[in-house]
Amino acid sequence: MSEKELLIYIDGKFYPKSQAKISVYDHGLLYGDGVFEGIRAYNGIVFKLKEHIDRLYSSAHAILLQIPLIKEEVMKAVIETLKTNDLTNAYIRLIVTRGVGDLGLDPRKCPKPTVIVITDTIKIMDPKVKEEGVKAVIVWVRRDAMDATPRNVKSLNYLNPVLGKIEANLAGADEGICLGADGSVCEGIAENIFIVKDGVIYTPTTCTGALPGITRKEVIKWARQLNYQVVEKIIAPSELFDADEAFFTGTAAEIVPIREINDRIIRDGKPGPITRRLMEEFQKAIKNPNEGTPIH
Ligand code: PMP
Repeated sequence: MSEKELLIYIDGKFYPKSQAKISVYDHGLLYGDGVFEGIRAYNGIVFKLKEHIDRLYSSAHAILLQIPLIKEEVMKAVIETLKTNDLTNAYIRLIVTRGVGDLGLDPRKCPKPTVIVITDTIKIMDPKVKEEGVKAVIVWVRRDAMDATPRNVKSLNYLNPVLGKIEANLAGADEGICLGADGSVCEGIAENIFIVKDGVIYTPTTCTGALPGITRKEVIKWARQLNYQVVEKIIAPSELFDADEAFFTGTAAEIVPIREINDRIIRDGKPGPITRRLMEEFQKAIKNPNEGTPIH
């Protein structure tokens, strides 16, 4: 029996996945000129949809990209795409490109941005590895400086993380850790990073060039509600090796314990108690209808 083909939203219309195409003159393709969000739906609830839409508009604002829809219409497009595909659990990729222009990079040549919603699944890590803790490696690829391509604008320009992932792959690691332009710890490939030392939770400040992750923000909130001290600071790479616990956070990754970094085992190599406690909070939150937007 052939599976029903997923339908993709492009500029207000639905197309079967095999026919969902955009122009080769779209500056999203030619220059990585555009913005996007990765969002998750769990059990009929789109987790933190409003927050993702807000970040999409902030990213677009920073690159002077005028999204041709208001926020409510973009939210509706996301919900409609999920409904059309009869999905209650999904990974959602919401993309707004600069649109079709000519071969010069001038954005003024692109009169109409392209809006795309893909609702599918994502698997970025082996579930068993994810549970036991991943092997991470600090890669040579630095995040751009604050005044270069900013990572806090979630743009389509992802060559930096792609290069990081290539290096992690070559090192036989599950995940990479990127440093900021100043050499301090910044984030994972497409995740934020946290460490725990003597009961205190630390994460790099977003001034290092780390994306202000939506999962990161929630984790900080839950940790503080649980009375843990959370400190955003500059973290030296060597501090990672000395951590009692370490974990990544992200929409696609969720919360992932880190077992080892550049061959240094983190404490006993097992997910630590604070990491596990926060993973429980994550599971609670994704089941809570108040933490997202219902599909139906
Ligand atoms: N950093 C980068 C570079 C990312 O691409 C992502 C994924 N969006 C994250 C961090 C994690 O952010 P979030 O929790 O919002 O998914």
